[in-house]
Amino acid sequence: MTAYSGRHFLQIPGPTNVPDRVLRALAQPTIDHRGPDFAELGLDLLQRVKPVFGTSGPVVIYPSSGTGAWEAALVNTLSPGDHVLAFETGHFATLWRDMAEGLGLVVDFVPGDWRRGVDPAVVAERLAADKGHRIAAVMVVHNETSTGVTSRVPEIRAAIDEAEHPALLLVDTISSLASIDFRHDEWGVDVTVSCSQKGLMLPPGLGFNAISDKALAAASSARLPKSYWGWAPILEANERGFFPYTPPTNLFYGLREVLTLLEEEGLPAVFARHARHAEATRAAVRGWGLEVLCADEREYSGSLTAVLLGEGHDADKVREIILDRFDMSLGTGLGKLAGRVFRIGHLGDFNDLTLAGTLAGVQMGLELAGVPIDPDGLQDAMRVLRTA
Ligand SMILES: *Cc1c(COP(=O)(O)O)cnc(C)c1O
Repeated sequence: MTAYSGRHFLQIPGPTNVPDRVLRALAQPTIDHRGPDFAELGLDLLQRVKPVFGTSGPVVIYPSSGTGAWEAALVNTLSPGDHVLAFETGHFATLWRDMAEGLGLVVDFVPGDWRRGVDPAVVAERLAADKGHRIAAVMVVHNETSTGVTSRVPEIRAAIDEAEHPALLLVDTISSLASIDFRHDEWGVDVTVSCSQKGLMLPPGLGFNAISDKALAAASSARLPKSYWGWAPILEANERGFFPYTPPTNLFYGLREVLTLLEEEGLPAVFARHARHAEATRAAVRGWGLEVLCADEREYSGSLTAVLLGEGHDADKVREIILDRFDMSLGTGLGKLAGRVFRIGHLGDFNDLTLAGTLAGVQMGLELAGVPIDPDGLQDAMRVLRTA
Protein backbone atom coordinates (compact mmCIF):
# COMPACT_ATOMS: atom_id res chain seq x y z
CA MET A 1 0.00 0.00 0.00
CA THR A 2 1.31 3.45 -0.95
CA ALA A 3 1.50 6.05 1.80
CA TYR A 4 0.26 9.51 0.78
CA SER A 5 0.73 12.79 2.59
CA GLY A 6 -1.76 15.67 2.57
CA ARG A 7 -5.46 15.41 1.89
CA HIS A 8 -7.01 12.84 -0.43
CA PHE A 9 -8.93 14.64 -3.23
CA LEU A 10 -12.39 13.06 -3.20
CA GLN A 11 -13.61 14.51 -6.51
CA ILE A 12 -16.31 11.97 -7.25
CA PRO A 13 -19.82 13.45 -7.43
CA GLY A 14 -20.71 12.02 -4.07
CA PRO A 15 -19.87 11.13 -1.39
CA THR A 16 -18.15 14.51 -1.25
CA ASN A 17 -15.51 16.01 1.05
CA VAL A 18 -16.87 16.56 4.57
CA PRO A 19 -15.80 19.97 5.97
CA ASP A 20 -13.70 19.91 9.16
CA ARG A 21 -16.40 21.77 11.09
CA VAL A 22 -18.89 19.06 10.16
CA LEU A 23 -16.48 16.24 11.07
CA ARG A 24 -16.04 17.83 14.51
CA ALA A 25 -19.80 18.20 14.93
CA LEU A 26 -20.28 14.50 14.11
CA ALA A 27 -17.90 13.55 16.92
CA GLN A 28 -20.15 14.70 19.79
CA PRO A 29 -21.52 12.11 22.24
CA THR A 30 -24.71 10.36 21.14
CA ILE A 31 -27.69 11.30 23.34
CA ASP A 32 -31.02 9.73 24.33
CA HIS A 33 -33.25 10.03 21.28
CA ARG A 34 -36.34 10.11 23.54
CA GLY A 35 -34.99 12.87 25.81
CA PRO A 36 -35.61 16.64 25.91
CA ASP A 37 -32.24 17.60 24.36
CA PHE A 38 -33.03 15.45 21.36
CA ALA A 39 -36.44 17.07 20.89
CA GLU A 40 -34.75 20.46 20.71
CA LEU A 41 -32.27 19.20 18.10
CA GLY A 42 -35.04 17.52 16.09
CA LEU A 43 -37.33 20.55 16.03
CA ASP A 44 -34.45 22.84 15.08
CA LEU A 45 -33.33 20.62 12.19
CA LEU A 46 -36.80 19.95 10.82
CA GLN A 47 -37.40 23.71 10.57
CA ARG A 48 -34.00 24.81 9.29
CA VAL A 49 -33.77 22.13 6.61
CA LYS A 50 -36.89 23.49 4.85
CA PRO A 51 -35.27 26.51 3.13
CA VAL A 52 -32.66 24.22 1.58
CA PHE A 53 -35.52 22.50 -0.27
CA GLY A 54 -37.30 25.79 -0.90
CA THR A 55 -40.35 24.63 1.01
CA SER A 56 -42.46 25.65 3.96
CA GLY A 57 -43.97 22.14 4.12
CA PRO A 58 -42.75 19.02 5.90
CA VAL A 59 -39.40 17.35 5.17
CA VAL A 60 -39.13 13.74 6.32
CA ILE A 61 -35.63 12.51 7.25
CA TYR A 62 -34.75 8.81 7.07
CA PRO A 63 -31.70 6.87 8.24
CA SER A 64 -31.04 5.75 4.65
CA SER A 65 -29.16 6.24 1.42
CA GLY A 66 -30.76 8.15 -1.44
CA THR A 67 -32.17 4.91 -2.81
CA GLY A 68 -34.28 4.54 0.33
CA ALA A 69 -35.65 8.04 -0.15
CA TRP A 70 -36.55 7.11 -3.77
CA GLU A 71 -38.53 4.15 -2.46
CA ALA A 72 -40.24 6.28 0.17
CA ALA A 73 -41.42 8.76 -2.49
CA LEU A 74 -43.01 5.96 -4.51
CA VAL A 75 -44.56 3.80 -1.79
CA ASN A 76 -46.14 6.74 0.02
CA THR A 77 -47.89 8.22 -3.01
CA LEU A 78 -48.75 5.36 -5.40
CA SER A 79 -50.76 2.13 -5.61
CA PRO A 80 -49.99 -1.21 -7.30
CA GLY A 81 -50.56 -1.00 -11.07
CA ASP A 82 -50.37 2.79 -11.19
CA HIS A 83 -48.78 4.19 -14.34
CA VAL A 84 -45.79 6.53 -14.06
CA LEU A 85 -43.91 8.51 -16.69
CA ALA A 86 -40.11 8.41 -16.50
CA PHE A 87 -37.21 9.44 -18.74
CA GLU A 88 -34.00 7.69 -19.67
CA THR A 89 -31.67 10.57 -18.88
CA GLY A 90 -28.93 8.28 -17.58
CA HIS A 91 -27.94 5.61 -15.08
CA PHE A 92 -29.81 6.95 -12.04
CA ALA A 93 -33.05 7.54 -13.94
CA THR A 94 -32.76 3.95 -15.19
CA LEU A 95 -32.25 2.60 -11.66
CA TRP A 96 -35.24 4.56 -10.36
CA ARG A 97 -37.31 3.11 -13.24
CA ASP A 98 -36.16 -0.40 -12.26
CA MET A 99 -37.23 0.27 -8.68
CA ALA A 100 -40.67 1.50 -9.77
CA GLU A 101 -41.16 -1.67 -11.84
CA GLY A 102 -39.97 -3.81 -8.94
CA LEU A 103 -42.61 -2.20 -6.74
CA GLY A 104 -45.38 -3.11 -9.18
CA LEU A 105 -45.79 0.19 -11.03
CA VAL A 106 -46.21 0.38 -14.80
CA VAL A 107 -43.48 2.62 -16.18
CA ASP A 108 -43.73 4.50 -19.45
CA PHE A 109 -39.96 5.01 -19.99
CA VAL A 110 -39.09 7.62 -22.62
CA PRO A 111 -35.77 6.65 -24.26
CA GLY A 112 -32.84 9.07 -24.21
CA ASP A 113 -29.24 9.34 -25.42
CA TRP A 114 -27.68 10.07 -21.98
CA ARG A 115 -26.52 13.52 -23.14
CA ARG A 116 -29.71 15.48 -22.57
CA GLY A 117 -32.24 16.06 -19.80
CA VAL A 118 -36.00 15.55 -19.75
CA ASP A 119 -37.58 17.27 -22.77
CA PRO A 120 -40.51 19.36 -21.48
CA ALA A 121 -42.17 19.10 -24.92
CA VAL A 122 -42.25 15.30 -24.58
CA VAL A 123 -43.76 15.63 -21.09
CA ALA A 124 -46.50 17.84 -22.55
CA GLU A 125 -47.08 15.44 -25.44
CA ARG A 126 -47.26 12.28 -23.31
CA LEU A 127 -49.59 13.84 -20.75
CA ALA A 128 -51.85 15.40 -23.40
CA ALA A 129 -52.20 11.93 -24.94
CA ASP A 130 -53.20 10.47 -21.55
CA LYS A 131 -56.84 11.58 -21.78
CA GLY A 132 -58.00 9.13 -19.10
CA HIS A 133 -55.40 10.41 -16.60
CA ARG A 134 -53.92 6.98 -16.03
CA ILE A 135 -50.47 8.41 -15.34
CA ALA A 136 -50.27 8.98 -11.59
CA ALA A 137 -46.80 10.49 -11.41
CA VAL A 138 -43.96 11.97 -13.46
CA MET A 139 -40.50 10.93 -12.21
CA VAL A 140 -37.61 13.29 -12.94
CA VAL A 141 -33.95 13.17 -11.93
CA HIS A 142 -33.06 16.86 -11.58
CA ASN A 143 -29.30 16.42 -11.92
CA GLU A 144 -28.27 13.17 -13.65
CA THR A 145 -25.09 12.31 -11.80
CA SER A 146 -24.03 9.78 -14.43
CA THR A 147 -23.99 12.40 -17.22
CA GLY A 148 -23.69 15.88 -15.68
CA VAL A 149 -26.99 17.01 -17.19
CA THR A 150 -29.52 19.10 -15.24
CA SER A 151 -33.16 18.89 -16.33
CA ARG A 152 -35.25 22.05 -16.40
CA VAL A 153 -37.79 21.36 -13.68
CA PRO A 154 -39.77 24.65 -14.01
CA GLU A 155 -40.35 23.93 -17.71
CA ILE A 156 -41.41 20.37 -16.89
CA ARG A 157 -43.90 21.74 -14.32
CA ALA A 158 -45.21 24.17 -16.95
CA ALA A 159 -45.68 21.26 -19.38
CA ILE A 160 -47.71 19.31 -16.80
CA ASP A 161 -49.86 22.38 -16.14
CA GLU A 162 -50.29 23.07 -19.84
CA ALA A 163 -51.66 19.54 -20.29
CA GLU A 164 -53.96 20.17 -17.30
CA HIS A 165 -52.85 16.79 -15.99
CA PRO A 166 -53.19 15.84 -12.30
CA ALA A 167 -50.03 13.65 -12.14
CA LEU A 168 -47.73 14.13 -9.18
CA LEU A 169 -44.25 15.47 -9.91
CA LEU A 170 -41.55 13.43 -8.12
CA VAL A 171 -38.02 14.86 -8.38
CA ASP A 172 -34.67 13.33 -7.41
CA THR A 173 -32.40 16.18 -6.22
CA ILE A 174 -29.76 13.88 -4.75
CA SER A 175 -26.83 15.55 -6.55
CA SER A 176 -28.38 19.00 -6.99
CA LEU A 177 -29.70 19.98 -3.56
CA ALA A 178 -27.55 22.73 -2.00
CA SER A 179 -25.48 22.95 -5.21
CA ILE A 180 -27.92 23.87 -8.01
CA ASP A 181 -30.96 26.14 -7.63
CA PHE A 182 -34.01 24.10 -6.66
CA ARG A 183 -37.37 25.29 -5.31
CA HIS A 184 -39.83 22.66 -4.13
CA ASP A 185 -42.79 24.99 -3.47
CA GLU A 186 -42.30 27.56 -6.22
CA TRP A 187 -41.73 24.91 -8.90
CA GLY A 188 -44.74 22.86 -7.81
CA VAL A 189 -42.82 19.69 -6.99
CA ASP A 190 -44.82 17.11 -5.02
CA VAL A 191 -42.07 14.95 -3.57
CA THR A 192 -38.42 16.02 -3.56
CA VAL A 193 -36.01 13.17 -2.91
CA SER A 194 -32.52 13.80 -1.59
CA CYS A 195 -29.76 12.47 0.66
CA SER A 196 -26.83 13.59 2.76
CA GLN A 197 -23.57 12.71 1.01
CA LYS A 198 -23.51 15.00 -2.03
CA GLY A 199 -24.22 18.75 -1.91
CA LEU A 200 -25.04 18.50 1.79
CA MET A 201 -21.40 17.61 2.53
CA LEU A 202 -22.24 14.90 5.08
CA PRO A 203 -21.27 11.25 5.22
CA PRO A 204 -23.82 8.87 3.66
CA GLY A 205 -26.77 7.93 5.86
CA LEU A 206 -29.60 10.50 5.64
CA GLY A 207 -32.43 10.32 3.10
CA PHE A 208 -34.99 13.10 2.62
CA ASN A 209 -38.51 13.54 1.24
CA ALA A 210 -39.94 17.07 0.99
CA ILE A 211 -43.70 16.69 0.66
CA SER A 212 -46.36 18.92 -0.94
CA ASP A 213 -49.98 19.13 0.27
CA LYS A 214 -51.02 17.28 -2.87
CA ALA A 215 -48.55 14.46 -2.13
CA LEU A 216 -49.80 14.27 1.46
CA ALA A 217 -53.36 13.96 0.18
CA ALA A 218 -52.26 11.22 -2.25
CA ALA A 219 -50.58 9.40 0.64
CA SER A 220 -53.90 8.92 2.41
CA SER A 221 -55.14 6.59 -0.34
CA ALA A 222 -51.82 5.15 -1.70
CA ARG A 223 -51.84 1.36 -1.38
CA LEU A 224 -48.26 0.26 -2.12
CA PRO A 225 -47.08 -1.71 0.94
CA LYS A 226 -44.92 0.29 3.34
CA SER A 227 -43.82 0.14 6.94
CA TYR A 228 -40.35 1.60 7.61
CA TRP A 229 -40.89 4.25 4.91
CA GLY A 230 -44.41 5.33 5.90
CA TRP A 231 -44.68 9.10 6.26
CA ALA A 232 -47.61 9.21 8.70
CA PRO A 233 -45.93 7.93 11.91
CA ILE A 234 -42.80 9.97 11.17
CA LEU A 235 -44.72 13.21 10.63
CA GLU A 236 -46.65 12.60 13.83
CA ALA A 237 -43.53 12.04 15.96
CA ASN A 238 -41.76 14.96 14.20
CA GLU A 239 -44.34 17.38 15.62
CA ARG A 240 -42.57 16.99 18.97
CA GLY A 241 -39.07 16.73 17.46
CA PHE A 242 -38.94 12.94 17.73
CA PHE A 243 -38.80 9.95 15.38
CA PRO A 244 -40.70 6.63 15.51
CA TYR A 245 -37.46 4.62 15.43
CA THR A 246 -33.86 5.39 16.38
CA PRO A 247 -32.64 8.30 14.26
CA PRO A 248 -28.97 8.74 13.23
CA THR A 249 -28.24 11.23 16.01
CA ASN A 250 -24.63 11.95 15.08
CA LEU A 251 -25.52 12.65 11.46
CA PHE A 252 -28.09 15.09 12.84
CA TYR A 253 -25.27 16.94 14.63
CA GLY A 254 -23.50 17.09 11.29
CA LEU A 255 -26.64 18.28 9.50
CA ARG A 256 -27.07 21.05 12.07
CA GLU A 257 -23.54 22.26 11.29
CA VAL A 258 -24.14 22.00 7.52
CA LEU A 259 -27.28 24.12 7.83
CA THR A 260 -25.22 26.74 9.67
CA LEU A 261 -22.56 26.66 6.92
CA LEU A 262 -25.22 27.09 4.23
CA GLU A 263 -26.91 29.90 6.17
CA GLU A 264 -23.55 31.68 6.58
CA GLU A 265 -22.74 31.56 2.87
CA GLY A 266 -26.34 31.99 1.69
CA LEU A 267 -27.92 29.65 -0.88
CA PRO A 268 -27.68 32.10 -3.84
CA ALA A 269 -23.93 32.41 -3.23
CA VAL A 270 -23.63 28.62 -2.91
CA PHE A 271 -25.35 28.16 -6.29
CA ALA A 272 -23.23 30.88 -7.94
CA ARG A 273 -20.04 29.29 -6.61
CA HIS A 274 -21.00 25.92 -8.08
CA ALA A 275 -21.99 27.44 -11.45
CA ARG A 276 -18.66 29.26 -11.67
CA HIS A 277 -16.62 26.16 -10.86
CA ALA A 278 -18.61 24.19 -13.43
CA GLU A 279 -17.89 26.87 -16.04
CA ALA A 280 -14.16 26.80 -15.25
CA THR A 281 -14.20 23.00 -15.54
CA ARG A 282 -15.87 23.12 -18.95
CA ALA A 283 -13.29 25.71 -20.05
CA ALA A 284 -10.55 23.23 -19.11
CA VAL A 285 -12.24 20.35 -20.94
CA ARG A 286 -12.65 22.39 -24.12
CA GLY A 287 -9.13 23.77 -23.79
CA TRP A 288 -7.79 20.21 -23.61
CA GLY A 289 -9.64 19.52 -26.86
CA LEU A 290 -12.00 17.04 -25.18
CA GLU A 291 -15.78 16.93 -25.13
CA VAL A 292 -18.26 17.74 -22.34
CA LEU A 293 -20.84 14.93 -22.36
CA CYS A 294 -23.81 17.27 -21.78
CA ALA A 295 -25.05 18.24 -25.25
CA ASP A 296 -27.32 21.18 -24.37
CA GLU A 297 -25.84 24.31 -22.81
CA ARG A 298 -29.12 25.04 -21.00
CA GLU A 299 -28.59 21.79 -19.08
CA TYR A 300 -24.97 22.03 -17.93
CA SER A 301 -24.63 20.70 -14.40
CA GLY A 302 -23.27 22.90 -11.63
CA SER A 303 -22.21 19.95 -9.51
CA LEU A 304 -20.25 17.70 -11.86
CA THR A 305 -18.83 17.51 -15.38
CA ALA A 306 -18.66 14.26 -17.37
CA VAL A 307 -15.76 14.23 -19.82
CA LEU A 308 -16.04 12.13 -22.97
CA LEU A 309 -12.84 10.55 -24.30
CA GLY A 310 -12.28 9.72 -27.94
CA GLU A 311 -12.22 6.19 -29.36
CA GLY A 312 -9.27 4.11 -28.22
CA HIS A 313 -8.88 5.78 -24.83
CA ASP A 314 -10.02 4.10 -21.62
CA ALA A 315 -11.44 6.59 -19.11
CA ASP A 316 -10.99 4.12 -16.25
CA LYS A 317 -7.28 3.83 -17.06
CA VAL A 318 -7.00 7.62 -16.74
CA ARG A 319 -8.82 7.49 -13.36
CA GLU A 320 -6.54 4.69 -12.18
CA ILE A 321 -3.39 6.68 -13.01
CA ILE A 322 -4.75 9.79 -11.29
CA LEU A 323 -5.64 7.84 -8.14
CA ASP A 324 -2.29 6.10 -8.06
CA ARG A 325 -0.09 9.13 -8.79
CA PHE A 326 -2.02 12.03 -7.28
CA ASP A 327 -4.29 10.43 -4.67
CA MET A 328 -7.41 11.84 -6.31
CA SER A 329 -10.66 9.91 -6.89
CA LEU A 330 -12.75 10.77 -9.95
CA GLY A 331 -16.16 9.37 -10.90
CA THR A 332 -16.26 6.32 -13.16
CA GLY A 333 -18.44 5.96 -16.26
CA LEU A 334 -21.69 4.31 -15.17
CA GLY A 335 -23.87 1.90 -17.15
CA LYS A 336 -23.69 2.60 -20.89
CA LEU A 337 -20.89 5.11 -20.35
CA ALA A 338 -18.43 2.67 -18.72
CA GLY A 339 -14.89 3.30 -19.97
CA ARG A 340 -15.98 6.20 -22.20
CA VAL A 341 -16.30 9.00 -19.65
CA PHE A 342 -14.87 10.05 -16.34
CA ARG A 343 -16.69 12.49 -14.07
CA ILE A 344 -15.23 15.42 -12.17
CA GLY A 345 -17.24 16.23 -9.05
CA HIS A 346 -17.06 19.93 -8.15
CA LEU A 347 -19.74 20.12 -5.51
CA GLY A 348 -19.98 20.65 -1.80
CA ASP A 349 -17.00 21.83 0.24
CA PHE A 350 -15.06 23.35 -2.62
CA ASN A 351 -13.12 26.52 -3.50
CA ASP A 352 -11.12 27.95 -6.40
CA LEU A 353 -7.88 26.26 -5.42
CA THR A 354 -9.56 22.91 -4.80
CA LEU A 355 -10.77 23.17 -8.38
CA ALA A 356 -7.40 24.32 -9.73
CA GLY A 357 -5.71 21.39 -7.94
CA THR A 358 -8.34 18.99 -9.23
CA LEU A 359 -7.97 20.16 -12.83
CA ALA A 360 -4.15 20.10 -12.61
CA GLY A 361 -4.39 16.47 -11.46
CA VAL A 362 -6.75 15.62 -14.30
CA GLN A 363 -4.49 17.29 -16.87
CA MET A 364 -1.39 15.46 -15.65
CA GLY A 365 -3.32 12.18 -15.55
CA LEU A 366 -4.51 12.61 -19.14
CA GLU A 367 -0.94 13.32 -20.24
CA LEU A 368 0.43 10.31 -18.37
CA ALA A 369 -2.27 8.10 -19.90
CA GLY A 370 -1.21 9.20 -23.38
CA VAL A 371 -4.47 10.97 -24.21
CA PRO A 372 -3.52 13.72 -26.68
CA ILE A 373 -4.55 17.03 -25.09
CA ASP A 374 -3.67 20.69 -25.32
CA PRO A 375 -2.08 21.78 -21.99
CA ASP A 376 -3.77 25.19 -22.33
CA GLY A 377 -6.86 23.63 -20.74
CA LEU A 378 -5.70 24.40 -17.21
CA GLN A 379 -4.87 28.02 -18.19
CA ASP A 380 -8.37 28.40 -19.67
CA ALA A 381 -9.90 27.26 -16.37
CA MET A 382 -7.68 29.64 -14.40
CA ARG A 383 -8.80 32.50 -16.64
CA VAL A 384 -12.38 31.81 -15.54
CA LEU A 385 -11.28 31.55 -11.89
CA ARG A 386 -9.45 34.88 -12.08
CA THR A 387 -12.69 36.68 -12.86
CA ALA A 388 -14.64 37.75 -9.79
C1 LIG B 1 -26.12 9.10 -5.77
C2 LIG B 1 -27.42 9.17 -6.47
C3 LIG B 1 -28.45 8.27 -6.19
C4 LIG B 1 -28.28 7.10 -5.26
O1 LIG B 1 -28.06 7.50 -3.96
P1 LIG B 1 -27.53 6.41 -2.89
O2 LIG B 1 -27.29 7.24 -1.67
O3 LIG B 1 -26.31 5.80 -3.47
O4 LIG B 1 -28.62 5.42 -2.68
C5 LIG B 1 -29.66 8.45 -6.84
N1 LIG B 1 -29.86 9.46 -7.71
C6 LIG B 1 -28.88 10.34 -8.00
C7 LIG B 1 -29.15 11.43 -8.97
C8 LIG B 1 -27.63 10.22 -7.39
O5 LIG B 1 -26.67 11.09 -7.68
